[in-house]
Order: sequence, then C-alpha cells, then structure tokens
Amino acid sequence: DFSVSLPKTSNDEIGELSTSIQILANDLNYLKKERNEFLGSISHELRTPLTYIKGYADIAKRNNISEKDRLHYIHIIYEESNHVSNLLTELFDLAKMDQHTFSISKEKVNICLFMQSILRKMEPAFESKGVKLEFICQKETFAHIDPIRFEQVFLNLLDNALKYSDTNTLTAIEITKKENIIDINVRDQGHGIPAEDLPYIFDRLYRVDKSRSRLTGGYGLGLSIVKEIIDAHGGTISVESQLNKGTCFKITLKGLYDENRFADR
Ligand code: ADP
Repeated sequence: DFSVSLPKTSNDEIGELSTSIQILANDLNYLKKERNEFLGSISHELRTPLTYIKGYADIAKRNNISEKDRLHYIHIIYEESNHVSNLLTELFDLAKMDQHTFSISKEKVNICLFMQSILRKMEPAFESKGVKLEFICQKETFAHIDPIRFEQVFLNLLDNALKYSDTNTLTAIEITKKENIIDINVRDQGHGIPAEDLPYIFDRLYRVDKSRSRLTGGYGLGLSIVKEIIDAHGGTISVESQLNKGTCFKITLKGLYDENRFADR
C-alpha cells in the first residue's frame, strides 16, 4: 500500500499539503484495489471458457467416442473460443479508451436511416424470440457521429433489450429532435434492473445477476463501452428501470441542423 506518515495537520500551508498528500495516497490505494479486482475478474472470465475448451478438447480427441459426440464437443469448443475472443475484443477497446488512443471519426449521419439499417440486422433475432420491434423517428434527423462506434452502441443496447426480455413483449426505439438536441430512447418491457444495481450498470464487469452470465453470454462490459463512446461524442446516457416492467436507456446528443432548416435561419 501507499502509506504516508505525516505530522498531524497544522493550520498552515504544511498542514494543507499534508492533507492533500494523504488524500492522494488514499486515492492511489483505491485505484490499486480497483485494478486488482478488475484483473481478478478478467482472469476468472478467461479461466472459465478455457477450462471448458481444454476439457472438451481432451474428450474430443479420444478414439472411443461417436462422431456425433465429437461434433458436439467441437461445437462447444468453438462457442467458448468465441466467448474468449469477444471478451478480448471488448477489453482491447477499453484499453484503447483508457490510453486515449481510441479514435472517433465523426461524420454527418442521418440517424433514422442509420438506425433502420441496424434494426434490419437485429430483426431476425427479435422475431425468433417473439419480441416485437417498434421504431419511431422524425425524418431528416442528422447527427455528427462515428457510425462504426454508434453501431456498437445500438447493437449493445438492442442486444441487451432482447437478452433481458421475454416473448410477447415490445422493444421500442424512439428518436426525437428538439431544437438542436437529439433524444434516442431504447425502451424494453423486459426483466428490469433492481434500483440498488442501477447506479453501477455502466461500470466495467458489473452484472446484476452474476449466475445468469454464462446463459446470456455477457461480461458486463457492454454498457461501459457504450458509455465511453457516448462520452467521447459529448453526449449523455441515462437509464430508468422498473423491476419486471422494463428498462429505458436515454441517449442525448447534440444534433446538426439539416440543410433546409439551416437555410431558414
Ligand atoms: P452484459 O454483457 O452482462 O449484458 P452490460 O454491461 O451490457 O453487460 O450490462 C450490465 C448489466 O446490466 C447486465 O448484466 C444486466 O444485468 C443489466 N442490463 C443491461 N441492459 C438491461 C436491460 N435492457 N434490461 C435488464 N437488465 C439490463
């Protein structure tokens, strides 16, 4: 630990300095603890799929198993390798964000058309789970965003909406623009998030139900990446949720005036 032993504070500059150093030492200890916890969680996340991969690879190479079983084991190995690879991709993104080498390249995007193309990709998954998709957007809504990063944002939010919803529910995406502000709401009628967990869901590796994670396949990194991307665009993201009723993620972005409107001014 970073420990400092300083004389008891006096009421002058030395006193102030010693208080500041004490606060700094506490911060450093806190960061060290956070880093250790983070590394511990990552090792755990990596160890679990690797244990499966090693175990099933071991059985799959035996001579006395049926071809059908061998294919089944190879399928599990493939799925688990995907887990590892996805986790590493997300971690790599976060590391780049931390080093500020995460580049954003903004362009003028018609956000309605953009969202439509993302929804087209997600539609089959929603359909097969019986979750209805609804999309409302004011036409000609332009934003200055990095489309690759924003695709990541929307895919993450929609993927969560789907993961945490049951059949016969609705996920609604609404984009509205008032003056120069664009509001994007992604609202589901899913399981909801307990109030005590809400403040932490944008934290790295935070998951509400730890035991469900392997079933739903998440690492608790998605929303932290979403938030970093929105922050990097100068926007905000917030969440409202009610247990067993649903969740709504609200993104606010500065918009661009469309050309026609701009000409009016
Ligand atoms: P994960 O990959 O585990 O889904 P995220 O960072 O995307 O990680 O989300 C963190 C946690 O927040 C999730 O584990 C889940 O408990 C909760 N969560 C996120 N989105 C929703 C949602 N739409 N409905 C209910 N819970 C959600």
